[in-house]
Amino acid sequence: MSDQPRLQAKFCTHCGAPLQRRWVEADQRERLACTGCAAVHYQNPKVLVGTMITCGSRLLLCRRAHAPAAGLWTPPSGFMEENETLEQAAARETFEETGVTVDPDDLILHTIANLPFINEVYLTFRATVEQTQVECGPESLEAAFFDQQEIPWDALAYPAMNGFLRMFFREMMSNRFGVHLGHVDQNGKSRRSYHLPAIGEKAYSVGAAKAALNE
Ligand code: ZN
Repeated sequence: MSDQPRLQAKFCTHCGAPLQRRWVEADQRERLACTGCAAVHYQNPKVLVGTMITCGSRLLLCRRAHAPAAGLWTPPSGFMEENETLEQAAARETFEETGVTVDPDDLILHTIANLPFINEVYLTFRATVEQTQVECGPESLEAAFFDQQEIPWDALAYPAMNGFLRMFFREMMSNRFGVHLGHVDQNGKSRRSYHLPAIGEKAYSVGAAKAALNE
């Protein structure tokens, strides 16, 4: 997740004229609109994806090379690029930041978090890998797999991450994962969790899930 202020465009990307906020009757809200060609410039939330990659009882984290939270640890994450699926974006960010390869088809949905105060939606997927070899890209200073006892708890990138990682380790110990819907804003955070054991067994098998789609 990002704590940088969101940059706001000043000029129209169609005609170059200045933008200003105006009331759009049809939408019943103010929007950024062009003073020349009248084009409306929509500002919708950005989608951020991350991964919880485990090897045995260890979880993959990387240490951020750049702001925000430079020098601090986080699961691999980043913004979706154009024309990507959620899973492709998550696999790409994981590889770019840690050198760890995961098949997008092997990623299982784990968390969806609403971050309305920074205008972002954050999704995480989980997957397991067989080996702990890492190779950092330019976005990371280091990457490593950690047991729960080894996690750098005092050097995590975001305050909300502490409880989230503890919950993830509890799930890993019990081998019973949920799907979690979170909400983080200035007033705090909340989370609703869904455990789906009956359909989970089926959905966790990619082959079965694909077959189900064809039924
Ligand atoms: Zn314009």
